[in-house]
Amino acid sequence: MTVAIRDIKAICTAPEGINLVAVKVDTSEPGLYGLGCGTFAYRHLAVKLLVEEYLRPLLLGQNVENIEQLWHLMHHNGYWRNGPIENNAISGVDMALWDIKGKMANMPVYQLLGGKVREGVPIYRHADGRDAAEIGDNIEKYLARGIAHIRVQRGGYGGGAFAAAPATAPEGAPPGVYLDGKRYMRDTLKLMEDLRARFGFEVDFCHDVHERLHPRDSIHFAEELEKFGLFFIEDAIPLERHEYLRELRTKVSTPIAQGELFNHPCEWRHIIAEGLIDFIRVHQSQLGGITPTRKLQLFAEQFGVRTAWHGPGDMSPLAHAANIHLDVAAQNFGLQEWSGTEPPNFVIQEIRGSGEALLDVFPGLPEFRNGYVYPNGRPGLGVDLDEGEAAKYPCENTVARWTQTRLRDGTPHTP
Ligand code: MG
Repeated sequence: MTVAIRDIKAICTAPEGINLVAVKVDTSEPGLYGLGCGTFAYRHLAVKLLVEEYLRPLLLGQNVENIEQLWHLMHHNGYWRNGPIENNAISGVDMALWDIKGKMANMPVYQLLGGKVREGVPIYRHADGRDAAEIGDNIEKYLARGIAHIRVQRGGYGGGAFAAAPATAPEGAPPGVYLDGKRYMRDTLKLMEDLRARFGFEVDFCHDVHERLHPRDSIHFAEELEKFGLFFIEDAIPLERHEYLRELRTKVSTPIAQGELFNHPCEWRHIIAEGLIDFIRVHQSQLGGITPTRKLQLFAEQFGVRTAWHGPGDMSPLAHAANIHLDVAAQNFGLQEWSGTEPPNFVIQEIRGSGEALLDVFPGLPEFRNGYVYPNGRPGLGVDLDEGEAAKYPCENTVARWTQTRLRDGTPHTP
């Protein structure tokens, strides 16, 4: 008997102060439902509206087993496609359908993808701080937990906090996160020197330029960083300036990671096929869920490009779990960014409180042990959602501030 989609809703919740969007797909089978992540933290209401007002009417009564067909139906239904709001909405449903399929098969999602290539997933964490000493102390905490790959940044991505314009800006310049590219490059090079002096070359460091430099400066910066033997340099070239990737490629041998902002297949197809990158950093829900991300992973495998799916704090544990299922099943897996959803989480504790609320809302996370994350073995994605707990942490609809980045003269710039 066909199991049909009976209802779809989007649940917005902010247990750690970040707006998350979970999508719940209910079925005609009593007790059988699926959950997926459609988190676009800075446009969460738009995703919720799209899910409930457009995707729900489209999908009610459809057979939950036809994931591939339903993905394409959602993708083409609005005619214009490949946008972040639409893709996140589709992702919420797509992941929920994979969750349902896993529950129907009584298998974790990674089994549906062909089973395990590895038992556990090596992860990397972020070490930040005011200076090399503080960053080094944070690195020590990760090393003690078996984490061998660490992203290092001094003072975030090279900009100050949201504040009044600095004295170097023109009169009348608005408040914002002001960038000073030259100082950021000098500070980061000194940081790498200090960290290599303290830790040697045993620890693998990553660094994220976060599109904050002009490509010309970024290429020079990457050349200067080369001697520190980074595991990868991330988003050194902005999405809109991919013509510079070829030059970066020819000038440095540091592995290149790109892509947390990608939405459209044309954004990755040629740079993978032409061998211009080493790690694909895509954010799964930005692509539209497990269905398109699995295809991208298999495409990348043909060209020797490894995966390093985006795993920041501004996505839900459902998406973190989806990453882990793909990671254990992918031959060309490289490394997984992990935001540390498990307690005790000293980063979350320092920034936002205990870190327990996230676990109350989303019971059943993948499990971190000594440098590796493991799927929890439950059917589907293995993560649940307590709607009563979720309701205790309503989202705030405020204007995002950290994305109001500006150059020294006040010009708006990519965040
Ligand atoms: Mg990044």
